[in-house]
Amino acid sequence: MNYFSLSAAQQIILQSTARLGMETIPLARSLNRVLAKDILSNRDHPPYAVSAMDGYAVRVNNLSTLPAILTVIEDIKAGTLPIKAVLDGQCARIMTGAAIPQGADTVIRVEDTETILSDAVQINTGAALGTNIRRQGENLRTGATVLKAGTMITPGVLGILAMVKCAQVPVYQQPRVAILSTGDELEGLDDPFDSNKIPDANSHTLFAQVLALGITPTLLGITQDDPLELAQAIRRGLDYDVLLISGGTSVGVHDYVRPTLAELNVHMHFWRVAIRPGHPFAFGTTAKNQVFCLPGNPVSSMVCFEQFVAPALRQATGHHRLYRRTLTARLSHTLAHRHQNMEFVRVRLAQDQQGYVATATDSQSSGVLLSMAHADGLLIVPADSNGLVAGEAVTVQCLDGMCYQNTPFGAPV
Ligand code: AMP
Ligand code: MG
Repeated sequence: MNYFSLSAAQQIILQSTARLGMETIPLARSLNRVLAKDILSNRDHPPYAVSAMDGYAVRVNNLSTLPAILTVIEDIKAGTLPIKAVLDGQCARIMTGAAIPQGADTVIRVEDTETILSDAVQINTGAALGTNIRRQGENLRTGATVLKAGTMITPGVLGILAMVKCAQVPVYQQPRVAILSTGDELEGLDDPFDSNKIPDANSHTLFAQVLALGITPTLLGITQDDPLELAQAIRRGLDYDVLLISGGTSVGVHDYVRPTLAELNVHMHFWRVAIRPGHPFAFGTTAKNQVFCLPGNPVSSMVCFEQFVAPALRQATGHHRLYRRTLTARLSHTLAHRHQNMEFVRVRLAQDQQGYVATATDSQSSGVLLSMAHADGLLIVPADSNGLVAGEAVTVQCLDGMCYQNTPFGAPV
């Protein structure tokens, strides 16, 4: 049986993932979305030359001998325009962000001066022409492109959108995502407690993983390992753009997911990827849908989501950085590797003076979800590795936050 490599599988998925269209949403709801249009500035900012410091607006050629005593002709606050022009021997007291008065060409910081009288100041330190003046339009220029389409909206980007008064933000749409768990043994969160059953974790980890990407998915619940019931549930799932199915995709006689999908005319692109955990992963499409078949083991489901589903959802929503950020760490112990697959080992990260240190969490069985619950990242063991020794440099995919990069592993581009 041919297993697909991780990168071949990712490529097939991304080739079938179209970026969605545009919608307009309120600024306050736009964090972590991606701009679908270039954004132009509607103003010069600052609107005129302003002071970068609290101090005195002076004519620099009045400072050829120091200290220099100047007459203070006016107090200029941010938001009020100066009334008088500064002539030789004069200056104006000025606040950060206030307009530079006519005649002045430099601002001397208040720390470099001493007040002599209420209307006179002694300047102790000189400055080059133009010091402490922010030019008109230094921040934003009317008509200039300030943000390009494809930019992810971080808090800083959101601030720029507010500065150009973009109250309604053009962003890429989000896909509608549904999640279906399969298995006769499963007990739902609201079902009565039955000691013979297995609690359905995957619906909820998948829900949270989708939510962490900024998309709110729909839970379709649990379906039994019964071809008719499964077909009905999958039909409901195909009303959504993206369907995530957990379980029933392996080689057991009751693993009906893939044949049922094929009967419903879902074209299956591949099954089984050379990774561990997660090798029973499969992927299919119709003209309107993407279907991700995630293995039932809870760790496998989460690992496959990170490698296959997250990059696709990010591409669909306009992101350029599709892959979890990786970093280099030192392994704190030996790690055996006895099979042919690329392996994702759940690790905790600590830091010492030499950098990051990675330590495996708990049992690495794909059924032990605590190994994932306690992990900061996934340590990547290459398929051809004969095992790793303590102190060896390893690549770790970080699982926290919204940090993504352009390349799957290795140095970010
Ligand atoms: P399967 O992929 O259906 O063969 O399931 C593999 C293992 O994962 C079995 O031990 C299942 O009981 C378990 N499993 C399947 N679905 C879930 C789920 N939704 N939540 C937790 N465990 C599951
Ligand atoms: Mg099953």
